[in-house]
Amino acid sequence: MRQVDVAVVGSGPAGHVAAIQMVRLGLSVVLIGPAHSGKDGRTTALLGSSVSYLERLGLWDGIKSKGQALRVMRLIDDTGRLLRAPTTEFDSSEIGLEAFGYNIDNNSLVSALHEGLDAVDRDLLVEDQQFARSVALGDDYASIEMEDSSIWQAKLAIAADGRNSLVKEAAGVEMRRWSYPQSALVVNLHHPSSSHNNTSTEFHTPTGPFTLVPYRDSHTSSLVCVVTPETAQELKAMDKQALAMELERRAQSIYGAFELLTEPQVFPLAGMVAKGFHGQRAALIAESAHVFPPIGAQGLNLSLRDIEALTDAIVSKGEADPGSEQVLSSYGRSRISDIWSRTAGVHMLNMSLLSSLPFGQGARTAGLALAKMVPSLRRFMMKAGLASPSRIGSVGDAANQDV
Ligand SMILES: Cc1cc2nc3c(=O)[nH]c(=O)nc-3n(C[C@H](O)[C@H](O)[C@H](O)COP(=O)(O)OP(=O)(O)OC[C@H]3O[C@@H](n4cnc5c(N)ncnc54)[C@H](O)[C@@H]3O)c2cc1C
Repeated sequence: MRQVDVAVVGSGPAGHVAAIQMVRLGLSVVLIGPAHSGKDGRTTALLGSSVSYLERLGLWDGIKSKGQALRVMRLIDDTGRLLRAPTTEFDSSEIGLEAFGYNIDNNSLVSALHEGLDAVDRDLLVEDQQFARSVALGDDYASIEMEDSSIWQAKLAIAADGRNSLVKEAAGVEMRRWSYPQSALVVNLHHPSSSHNNTSTEFHTPTGPFTLVPYRDSHTSSLVCVVTPETAQELKAMDKQALAMELERRAQSIYGAFELLTEPQVFPLAGMVAKGFHGQRAALIAESAHVFPPIGAQGLNLSLRDIEALTDAIVSKGEADPGSEQVLSSYGRSRISDIWSRTAGVHMLNMSLLSSLPFGQGARTAGLALAKMVPSLRRFMMKAGLASPSRIGSVGDAANQDV
C-alpha cells in the first residue's frame, strides 16, 4: 500500500492539469491512468481564462506552439428557414485581444501536458500508468485498487476518469442525464487552395452546427459536423473522396476542395450533470461532473475552472487535509452556478437550431442580428464567452488577459 496526499484518477487532459496543479500546492500526487493512445481525432479550443490559467501553471508555451490562433469567429445561418440571421463575425481585435484562444489537437495537447509533468517536482509526483480497478471512499482515506492489485491510499481522490467515472460511482453521486437526437462527426481536413486566416466558421444548420476550426497550419481545419445519428453513420461509411466532396458542399466551398487528414470519428451527443460535485474524500471534475454537446468549445475550458476552484478551496480551507469535508463542500458549492449556466447556455443554443418553434429561432436570429449591428453588444458577448463567470460584466478583464 502506497500513500499520497492526492490521487488523480484519469490521465486525460483534465487529469494531467489537476496533477500538476496539486504538486504546485506542495502536495504529493499519483496520476493514475493508461498512457495516451494517440488515437483521439478531436481538437480542443482553449479560450480566454483557460489560456491565462495554463500560463500561470507554466504549461502554456508548450501547448501554444502546437496550436493555431483563433482570431475571428464567423457564424453563418444555413438553416434555410424563413427567419434567418445575418452572417456575423466576432473579431478578437475588437476587444483588444490578439486571439480568442488556440485550437489544438487532443493528441498534441496531452503530449504537451505530459511533458509539463517533467517541469514539476518529481519527488512529489508519480505516475501509475494502468487503470484503477476499484475505489473505496472512507472517513480518512480514499483507497484505489489498481489492475495489478496494488493499492493507493490518498486523502483526496480527484475524479478525472471521464463520463463513466469509477470514483463518481464510489462516491454514490447520481447524474442528471439527457440525450440529443444528434451525433458529431469529427474529422481533420486539408484545404490546399485557401487559408482559413485564423477564422473559425460555424454554419448553423437545422440538425446542428457544422464548425470548421483552424487546425495545424493555415491550410488545415478540424471539423465538427453535428447531424442526426443516421446521417453521421452514413457520412462515416462513405469512401474518402466522396466524403471530402460532401463536406465541401456542406461548407459551401468556402475553402475550396477538401482532403481528409484523419479517419472520421462519431460521437453521440449527450448531456450529463452530476447532482453534486463531491463525495466523501472525492472531488468530481471535468467529464465525471459535466458532459455536454461540443458546441461553443466549453467542455475542457469548464474543466480547467473546476481545477482552479478546487485549488482555491484547498488553499483557503487548509492544505493539511485537501480531502476534508470543509474543503470539498466549499468546492462543490462553488461550482454549481458556472456548471449549470454553461450547460444551459449550450443546451439553449443547440435547441434554438433544432427547434421548429419560431420563438427559439427568433431569439437566436434577433441576438445575432443585434450583435452584428451593435458593436458594444458584440464586445459584451465576446467578453462573456471568454471570461470566467466572476469576471463577466467587468469591462476590460477579458481584454486584459494576455491571450
Ligand atoms: C467532438 C468533441 C469536440 C470537443 N471540442 C471541445 C473544444 O473545442 N473545447 C473544449 O473545451 N472541449 C471540447 N470538447 C470536450 C472535451 O473534449 C472534453 O471535455 C475533454 O476531452 C474531457 O477531458 P477529460 O480529461 O475530462 O476526459 P477524457 O479525455 O475522457 O479522459 C478521461 C481519462 O480517464 C482515463 N480513465 C477512465 N477510466 C479510468 C480508470 N478506471 N482508471 C484510470 N484511468 C481511467 C481514460 O483512459 C482517459 O485518459 C469536445 C468534445 C467532443 C466530443
